[in-house]
Amino acid sequence: MTTDMTNSAESDGMQTATHLLRTVWGYDAFRPLQADAVASVIAGRDSLIVLPTGGGKSLCYQIPAMVRDGLAIVVSPLISLMKDQVDALLANGVAAALINSTQSDEEKRVVADSIRAGKLDLLYMSPEGLLVPRTLAFLQQARVSFFAIDEAHCVSNWGHDFRPEYRELSVLKDRFPDASIHAFTATASARVRRDIAQQLELEDPLVLVGDFDRPNLTYRMPAADRKLDQIRAVIRRHPGSSGIVYCISRREVEQTAAALQASGISAEAYHAGLDDATRTAQQDAFIKEQIDVIVATVAFGMGIDKSNVRYVVHAGMPKSIEHYQQESGRAGRDGLASECVLLHSGGDVMTWKRIFELGDTANLDASMRSINAMAELCRGVRCRHAALVEYFGQEYDSENCNACDVCLNEIDIIDDAVTVAQKILSCVVRLKERFGAGYTVKVLTGSRDARILELGHDHLSTYGLLQTEGASATRMWIDQLVSQGFLNRVGDYQTLQLSDSGRKLMRREASVTLSRPAKRPTTSDRDGTSDDWSGVDRGLFEQLRALRRQLAADRDVPAYVIFGDAVLRDLARVQPSNMNAMRQIKGVGEKKLESFGPIFLSSIQEHASR
Ligand code: ADP
Repeated sequence: MTTDMTNSAESDGMQTATHLLRTVWGYDAFRPLQADAVASVIAGRDSLIVLPTGGGKSLCYQIPAMVRDGLAIVVSPLISLMKDQVDALLANGVAAALINSTQSDEEKRVVADSIRAGKLDLLYMSPEGLLVPRTLAFLQQARVSFFAIDEAHCVSNWGHDFRPEYRELSVLKDRFPDASIHAFTATASARVRRDIAQQLELEDPLVLVGDFDRPNLTYRMPAADRKLDQIRAVIRRHPGSSGIVYCISRREVEQTAAALQASGISAEAYHAGLDDATRTAQQDAFIKEQIDVIVATVAFGMGIDKSNVRYVVHAGMPKSIEHYQQESGRAGRDGLASECVLLHSGGDVMTWKRIFELGDTANLDASMRSINAMAELCRGVRCRHAALVEYFGQEYDSENCNACDVCLNEIDIIDDAVTVAQKILSCVVRLKERFGAGYTVKVLTGSRDARILELGHDHLSTYGLLQTEGASATRMWIDQLVSQGFLNRVGDYQTLQLSDSGRKLMRREASVTLSRPAKRPTTSDRDGTSDDWSGVDRGLFEQLRALRRQLAADRDVPAYVIFGDAVLRDLARVQPSNMNAMRQIKGVGEKKLESFGPIFLSSIQEHASR
């Protein structure tokens, strides 16, 4: 009997949840794992949900917060992230607020009053803010229905972003025995998942692990070769759209941003060395779409929820595959086709090694394993979607993803790689392993450089062996041999030396894969999925985008808080002529229809009558 009653209460809860999904968010249905995650929060069963970026984790707790009585507390690591989420909720008419250390006493009092009055559904806080004893005591008096712990991998020191203050969240079970706890993250291995459940003292949690694949992302991992031109080419494939360019060092960030600006691209730099005001201004300009491109170190992004980042370029290798998944994952959160380009060279591994050596050397071996796995993935010639998903322990069941440089045939694997490798390795040996890559390339391609003539290296048997291939291909192959471990770069001068496996390769006792960029041009839309744009009036889309930018600036909120790209494309495709027709568009809820419907409809009408 009790069970039946519970079941029926839960199914009522799910009905309410689905109703809210339609009316408040304007979406038709929950995604498969989302429905289970929502049901567990409504039922008050602890849970641990691993869904990739863009998988829709926020709704898993935002909707139950409205369904359940009492206050839901969302623990989130970054103030900017909280602010954006709260802005987005308020735009949808949801009773949400945040408390953080930058607020005035008066602002805090207003929030506290609405908590006392039972008027709030959702409260966003940082872990350290929540754990202040006075705050905890105050919240114990409120009716807290559940805690949602966002970025829950920060709880575990096995994860890639451990934060000690997250550990302290273990007190929650004790202090709030009636509240359920729900942990959410985009990346957590089985070990990290166990650790999260243990640290947060979850009771019989429902554990759901989503599919790690991001089918809307097209991955390209070409060797770096005239990097700036490559970066500019990606940006030109997405005119007027938002993109992120990641660089390893601050200096490279500054140089790249300046070079892009000089080519007329609207780009700004972002790194931890800039003062707070400048950083906030650059980030703000990016999310309000006043600039197109942000060039940044990995310091940028943790707090960014921007759903319509159309491309992410890495100007060098990220330090691990986990980091790559997270950083590239910032593209296409709205599910629309987006591009991720990783430019890499053998030198990146050395750069990271130097950075690791300056930091916590206790983890040096583990860090080197991570960067080597990343390097292997870059130089591999296996479907990128498959390689990434398999790294995270899942199977990829499609033969051809049609969304990576390998499957799109953009990589040209050279036929007789061993012979080419032998030519390079024997040149290194003939140069007595005393020269760097630049000089070796010159010898192999038959340069008449004065130093070569002076040292008599034009008489070596390997002089000019790769003349017909050219310097840039030769350089790329040397990088590939370095990243595959056949060559090492040694000492301050980065001189090339053969490794044991390099010597084996010289004797043809090992195999090697070398590639060059294919002649096939990179297209702006990958094959098969360009229908994201089919039927969209591009002129109208741009007009609506400008309107969105204006509305966002007036309200001081991120542009996507007004409407996401998918909604704008649908509006520019369907061109609704009245409120009812506009209500049918996915992602348009009642509150937004009321706030923005008339102004978008009149913009559409104006376009039609031109
Ligand atoms: P995550 O936090 O997992 O990275 P978000 O919660 O930001 O993902 O959701 C990503 C995007 O997907 C958002 O634009 C969101 O509004 C949209 N979304 C979430 N759930 C659904 C759904 N059931 N149907 C359609 N769109 C959805």
